[in-house]
Amino acid sequence: MAQRPTIVGNWKMNGSRAMLVEARAIDRVAARYKDVAVSLAPPFPLIALLRDEVSAIGVGGQDCHAAAKGPHTGDVSAALLADIGADFVIVGHSERRRDHGETDAGVLAKAQAALTAGLGVIVCVGETLDQRDAGQATAVVEAQIEGSLPQGEAACEAAALGRLAVAYEPVWAIGTGRVAEVGDVVAMHAAIRARLDARFGDAAARITVLYGGSVTGDNAAALLSAPGVGGALVGGASLTAEAFGPIIAAASAG
Ligand code: PEP
Repeated sequence: MAQRPTIVGNWKMNGSRAMLVEARAIDRVAARYKDVAVSLAPPFPLIALLRDEVSAIGVGGQDCHAAAKGPHTGDVSAALLADIGADFVIVGHSERRRDHGETDAGVLAKAQAALTAGLGVIVCVGETLDQRDAGQATAVVEAQIEGSLPQGEAACEAAALGRLAVAYEPVWAIGTGRVAEVGDVVAMHAAIRARLDARFGDAAARITVLYGGSVTGDNAAALLSAPGVGGALVGGASLTAEAFGPIIAAASAG
C-alpha cells in the first residue's frame, strides 16, 4: 500500500496558549483529508496542551537530548516527550545546527535516543547557499545522511515500521521565501533515496523523504507532486489553519 503524504508543521519558537485555536482548526482540516498524515511540532510547553486538543493530527517535538535523563539544564529527553504524548521528534534542524553547533554525530545520538524512547524521528539535512554555489550540495547532504541517521538492526526495524523520515531542507530556502527549483529537489531526493536504499535495504521504502523550505499553498502542489517527494516540513506557513490548510489540501489526492 502506498504511504500517505506527510505534512509536518514546525512552529519553531512561535506560539502561545492562544494559538491552540489554530491547532484545533488545523486538526479539523486534517480530519477532512484522511489520505494525508498531518502533524504539528510546537514548542515544548505546548506539546501536552496541544495533544489534548487534537485528534486527527500527530504531535511532535522540535528537538530532544541524546541522554535519557540527567544534569542537562534546559534540555528535554525523548522519553519525556513520549511520556507527554509526542509521537515523533525533529532532530538536526539547520536552525539547531546553526544556533547550537549541532554536529552530525550529535544529531545521530539524538535520533537514536528518540528511537529508543519509541518516538518517530525526522532527521533534517540540507546544504547552505555557499555549498550549493560551490557545487557541493549533493556531497554535503550525502555526508549528513551518512553521519546523522541511525544505523544497525534497531534502526532498520524502526525504518520498516515507518518511524524514520528525512527532511531535505536547503538552508537558504528556510524562512526566506526562496523555494528550491523542483528539478533540484527531485535530483536531491533521488540522491538521498539512493543512500537510504544502500543503508536500509528493503526497509528504505518505508522512509519518507520530505522537502522543506518556504513551502506555501501556492507552491505546494508542484513540490508535492514531484517524484520522490513524500511530503513537506513547513515552518512559517504552518502557524495558521488559513496558510497550512491549502498545503494539506495540495497533498491530498481527493
Ligand atoms: C522549517 O522550519 O523547517 C521550514 C522549512 O521553515 P519555512 O517553511 O518557514 O521555510
